[in-house]
Amino acid sequence: MVQHLHRGPRSALLEGLTWLEYAFQPAGQPAPANAAYGQQRHSANVVLASQNQPPKSCESDGVIGEHHLPVAVYTADCLPVLFADPQQQQVAAVHAGLKGTLGGVLNNAVDRLLERGASRETLRVAIGPAIGPCCYELGNDLVTQMRDRSDLPPLQWSTQQPHNAQAIRPQARAQQQGIWFDLPHLARSLLLQRGIQAEHIEVVKVCTYCMAEPGSSYRYNTHFASGYQSRFSWIRTRG
Ligand SMILES: [Zn+2]
Repeated sequence: MVQHLHRGPRSALLEGLTWLEYAFQPAGQPAPANAAYGQQRHSANVVLASQNQPPKSCESDGVIGEHHLPVAVYTADCLPVLFADPQQQQVAAVHAGLKGTLGGVLNNAVDRLLERGASRETLRVAIGPAIGPCCYELGNDLVTQMRDRSDLPPLQWSTQQPHNAQAIRPQARAQQQGIWFDLPHLARSLLLQRGIQAEHIEVVKVCTYCMAEPGSSYRYNTHFASGYQSRFSWIRTRG
């Protein structure tokens, strides 16, 4: 992963695909012109780009690319997830927080892409900057609820806060004697469960709380009232 000042972090997986363009933009930059993105509600709704032209035309947390338009999501600590399939040159952008991830937004995106000609063998997924297990504390009750669900893959968490050697500011301090939860790992595991190849899933390991540019984290703002701005992540096929 290489950090670019103006474009945000890059994905080695997507970088090799010359038929597309994408970015995990730094927080606070505007969405690209003509980008299609939904009114995000932590839902499992995935729609076509034309249904979000103009932006926020409908409530949805995933957008499938059409006609070379950029499809985008805006996030703070949630996962921005970009999909790309070389076979039919399909792309999608998905906003996946804990609620949307548990609600099936990633599975829905995979299913819709498969319907449109993508295949499990070739579909690539890049998971961008989001709050990491180094800073994402959850209450024990939530983890108990998740463990009670038989459809979920094994969860990854720790009662000890993981140290992040790459942090550029202090990691989150424990607020509730909870556990430190790995949300990107849950997303990756769900994608594996859906049949996506392990080598086609990349987690760009940038924690919005302790590693990304200032103003990236909703939770940091909750702790310090420092303000935050959304990060737009987008992808499109070249015309
Ligand atoms: Zn962190």
